[in-house]
Amino acid sequence: MVSPRLSKTIKASSFVAEEKELVFDIDMTDYDDVRSCCSGAQICKRCWPLMIIAIKILDKALRDDFGFDHLLWVYSGRRGVHCWVCDSTARKLGPSGRAAIAEYLSIVKGGENNVKKVVLQEPIHPFIERSIEIIEEFFEGYALVDQDILRSENISKIIDLIPERNRNDNLQKILLSANNSISRWNLLTKELERPGVHAGRVLKEIMLQYCYPRLDVNVSRGVNHLLKSPFSVHPKTGRVCVPIDQTDVENFDPFAVPTISQLIDEINTTSENEENLKIKDYKRTSLKEGVEIFENFLKQLKKTWEGAMIKESDLRMEL
Ligand SMILES: [Zn+2]
Repeated sequence: MVSPRLSKTIKASSFVAEEKELVFDIDMTDYDDVRSCCSGAQICKRCWPLMIIAIKILDKALRDDFGFDHLLWVYSGRRGVHCWVCDSTARKLGPSGRAAIAEYLSIVKGGENNVKKVVLQEPIHPFIERSIEIIEEFFEGYALVDQDILRSENISKIIDLIPERNRNDNLQKILLSANNSISRWNLLTKELERPGVHAGRVLKEIMLQYCYPRLDVNVSRGVNHLLKSPFSVHPKTGRVCVPIDQTDVENFDPFAVPTISQLIDEINTTSENEENLKIKDYKRTSLKEGVEIFENFLKQLKKTWEGAMIKESDLRMEL
């Protein structure tokens, strides 16, 4: 411990973070090779389901596989979501522990030049099987209909993901005989059902490559890495980084998230009413729901914290 007065006499490198939330940053930019609708910082209703899938998969794994309870999901204000894991065991993790968790959750590997980014080993890990079940709920509507991943000009990209020894030379022709991605996916499934082909595994690898969350391990590893804090305003879009209710993630609409100017308008137009002046400002705006999700999250955190304090004091009494 050093008195703040003497802080200038100490090297900056001697200051080490004692605790920090474990964070995950999921950015739509990392999905550019599997999105047909947008690229870069753009998002739309057709690609947003990728974020819904990401939240569902990671939330479940962090709770079930690692036992974390206090997860706050926040819209990043533009093109993605953040997760803040606030359990005390998570906050105390060092860089290698954080990296190990992020690595466990990383299934899509390799950069831009790597064609096949998901290779599964048999038996498939239960966590991956569970993730596939979540993807299956969205696969037809999101991947086959909205993204149309088997559209004619993308067929060869999908075929490239099938190991060469499992490919039928006429596969492209066979798939082109159907006229939409759903029928083509059914044909592909049938085509792979030949002896010696691990059809299930190959199809799962394709599904994971197109839908599984892409994590930036470096963001999670660092205890000094900064993320925009909840309720800050994104400088480019003006949108507020609002918390997302992970139990109702399908109904979260990033395009309905209030911007700072919208909030100012809402306060100005409602303040004339006498009654309104007795209500806190945020409660008269579209920020209300986000604040309630955040307060609920804090309440749970407080409960755990109080429980731990009581336990500690009981132990002391027994001694
Ligand atoms: Zn899009």
